[in-house]
Amino acid sequence: MASRKDTILKAAKRTAKQAHAAASKRGGKSRMRVGVEPHRHCSVCWKPISLDSDPSICDDESCQKMFERREKSRKRFSFLMYFGIAIFVGLLAVQIFMGASG
Ligand SMILES: [Zn+2]
Repeated sequence: MASRKDTILKAAKRTAKQAHAAASKRGGKSRMRVGVEPHRHCSVCWKPISLDSDPSICDDESCQKMFERREKSRKRFSFLMYFGIAIFVGLLAVQIFMGASG
């Protein structure tokens, strides 16, 4: 005969299980919330801007101009750098070649 006690015991067990599940779920949900959203900064004035803004500058006109100027000088610089490396490598190759032959 299924006694009344048995039913109560089952019910109690189920409630305990539910409580446990709820607790563990709540525990899993709690995570560290850092108050700052992911963002980037304007490369000129370091103002926080949205993550998808490209190039990474704010809407400020002076910043845009500055960015363009920087970009140009950077391109020139990288060109000169590659040019210099090419010369360096060329000279090195010549020296190696001379050393091997001489
Ligand atoms: Zn800016």
